[in-house]
Amino acid sequence: MDCGRWNCRLWLWVGLLLSVSTCSPAGEGHLDRLSRSRLKATHQAIADLARRRMPAPSPDGWRQVRANLHVHSLLSHDSRGTVDEIVAAARKVGTEVILFTEHPSTSKDFFTEGHRGLHDGVLLIPGAETEGFLCYPRQSLQGLKLGSPQEFADLVCGRGGLMFVSHPEERMNWKLSGITGIEIYNTHADFKDEAALLKKLRNPLWLLQSADLFRQYPQEAMSALLDYPTDYLRKYDELCQQRPHTGVAANDAHQNVGIMLRRVGDQQVRVSDALDKELVRLDIAGNPVLEALVDGRQPEELVFALRLDGYEHSLRHVGTHLLLARGSELTQDAVWDALESGRCFVAFDWLANSVGFDFVAVSQGIRHPMGSQLPFHRGISLEARAPLPVMWRISARGRQVHEAEGLTCTWQPTEPGPHRIEAWLEIAGEWLPWILSNPVYLDAIPPR
Ligand SMILES: [Zn+2]
Repeated sequence: MDCGRWNCRLWLWVGLLLSVSTCSPAGEGHLDRLSRSRLKATHQAIADLARRRMPAPSPDGWRQVRANLHVHSLLSHDSRGTVDEIVAAARKVGTEVILFTEHPSTSKDFFTEGHRGLHDGVLLIPGAETEGFLCYPRQSLQGLKLGSPQEFADLVCGRGGLMFVSHPEERMNWKLSGITGIEIYNTHADFKDEAALLKKLRNPLWLLQSADLFRQYPQEAMSALLDYPTDYLRKYDELCQQRPHTGVAANDAHQNVGIMLRRVGDQQVRVSDALDKELVRLDIAGNPVLEALVDGRQPEELVFALRLDGYEHSLRHVGTHLLLARGSELTQDAVWDALESGRCFVAFDWLANSVGFDFVAVSQGIRHPMGSQLPFHRGISLEARAPLPVMWRISARGRQVHEAEGLTCTWQPTEPGPHRIEAWLEIAGEWLPWILSNPVYLDAIPPR
């Protein structure tokens, strides 16, 4: 999201050390997941899942490649991320494709000056977050009239590009045709409902006391915001009944949420955000929290720093896994083919590595991958496998029609329409969504 509009750093931190401690009522998000005991239990549960994984190669020979869409770098006004640090983070979390989404500016062409090509084994693809889309054109848009959302989508898709609706919660009423797809999860949107956490983040004592927890369990703390994206999926299911749409995850990674406190002279502390933009200066005298922080520190010394959304953790939180054709090289054309075909799924890989997940419709002995369109008949079987035993949920036309537990799931659909599957894991006593597939389309709706 454009932080110039939403001001995602200021809203977090400007109240720091100015606000009074407030007690957050329960039920306004997932503050309970940030207790030490809960973070530790979550951490142990994840380690246990990693030990129990049973990955299997794709029975159809697909090359499964993890991608991250909706990533900002220093080409965006609200990020300082360099290619080197983003690629290093991608390699740590097993991502092989980064589809960047820079906020366009008049001084830089996000396409011609964007990051592209293979860097250390990671394929970089330039794009923009603009006019409500994740936009991946095949050529520069500089100087072109974008027009209405439909005209803009036609312009980009008509020239071989990809267009996904971004932040659909802000544009639920859009009616577009011919787009590639839509975000079915967005980390930033998921953060917006964490009311209790937002209040706590403005509470200096809580933040200072909790800094160790954020440092000890950075992934579990960042990913504590995870909610099942009910509204996004409702919209997605609606769209998929009209035409096939590819569902992707939006990391909305900026690495720009955090805080630094630096002593300035003898009297004051400078509070700045993760991009080192000054938010406020505070007098030390009379503020016991600050007095304790600067005790024994030199003028100009950094006395406190905390980053909540490092690239490694925001990229690992969720990914979009693409099934590339057998024997494919890692190229933009292969990535396009998977995204345009809906041959992909979304996974919250911070819980467990989802590589090895498989979902097909089997008709007359032929296995049709996610995104396929085939006529409905009674003999079709939906078959799924995950690298861990899970709770399976199959939905047809947005309505849950089957639930089962186990490593695999087989079920015969009884009606036409798009069918998709979800895999849920129990983590520290709570069921969390792990994998959200793209659908198989069991009827003759219009093609993409
Ligand atoms: Zn964004």
